Amino acid sequence: MSNVLILADFVDGKATKSTVEIATAGARIGEVSAVVMAPIGQGAALAATLTQGPITKILIIESDDFAKHGVAAVADALSQVANQSKPDAVLLVSHAFGKEVAARVAMKIQAGIITDAVDVAADCSTTQLVFGGSTTVHSKVSQGISIITVRPNTITADFIAAIPAIENVSVQISENAKKSTITSSQPPVKGGRPELTEANIVVSGGRGTNGDFAAVENFADSLGAAVGASRAATDAGWYPHSHQVGQTGKTVSPQLYVACGISGAIQHRAGMQTSKTIVVINKDPEAPLFELADFGVVGDLFAVLPPATEGVKARKA
Ligand SMILES: Cc1cc2nc3c(=O)[nH]c(=O)nc-3n(C[C@H](O)[C@H](O)[C@H](O)COP(=O)(O)OP(=O)(O)OC[C@H]3O[C@@H](n4cnc5c(N)ncnc54)[C@H](O)[C@@H]3O)c2cc1C
Repeated sequence: MSNVLILADFVDGKATKSTVEIATAGARIGEVSAVVMAPIGQGAALAATLTQGPITKILIIESDDFAKHGVAAVADALSQVANQSKPDAVLLVSHAFGKEVAARVAMKIQAGIITDAVDVAADCSTTQLVFGGSTTVHSKVSQGISIITVRPNTITADFIAAIPAIENVSVQISENAKKSTITSSQPPVKGGRPELTEANIVVSGGRGTNGDFAAVENFADSLGAAVGASRAATDAGWYPHSHQVGQTGKTVSPQLYVACGISGAIQHRAGMQTSKTIVVINKDPEAPLFELADFGVVGDLFAVLPPATEGVKARKA
């Protein structure tokens, strides 16, 4: 039987939806073991949040080196588990941390790596979207274990109840992995909104907001959505760069993407065109983003969004 390792992903002490997505992708290949890396004494609590997804086994590795030495220690531990269990594939979430761990593991175990997959097949072949999403590539690792990072929201997660066996694994973090130490870290200041790349719904504003994101934010909050922005908006200092969607920003693939006052430049499309449903609000009927839209509203966002927000709230009440 083929087997797959996934690196479980946690936010605020809870397993993320992306973890269920990579477990779902992994189960197409073989039995899924989720690796949980935790500070000493916290592994069981983290593992207990892995309640969903086709996960057969949870491997808990506890070490205070993960917090102290960061990505190097995590990659070191994951490489050791991969060397022991000889999986067909190792799947990780395609965020900056996941991709860095993946690259280090691939180097350590002399394996091939594919990043930003949007689909994974049973034979470990993958689909990627490149050149701003204009080209679809099918690729497969040709040497060693397939190390694959999977973009959030691109795999339909199988939320079946997970009843995994739990195993504690001990590893010795190598001296090489301890050569740099995290001396301090500041978690990002978070509002009540979901993380942009993981959100099911994203409402983005562009130059058409003229710097006033209140209507965009209110609409996003009514839907429980994350807020994105075009580069025109972030470059103008209207919204933080961390919220920029596009080629030089973040790639999102939500169930619903609402673009407000965004024209649809190729560089913006690159970051959002795999969204399942796209709604465009723009006062120019010729705006190129209407070509991608499932639903389009030709109108002033300041006139369209407030009643839409009230409408959503009324339906929820
Ligand atoms: C190398 C490179 C990388 C780039 N990377 C990115 C990237 O990652 N992300 C990104 O977004 N861009 C990126 N860009 C910039 C990109 O080319 C565009 O300039 C940018 O996306 C335009 O942003 P915008 O649509 O908000 O502004 P505009 O193109 O100016 O469009 C504003 C739109 O708002 C509409 N509008 C105005 N007022 C209203 C209103 N009241 N109500 C409704 N609609 C209104 C207008 O009709 C217009 O369509 C990059 C460019 C380069 C060269």
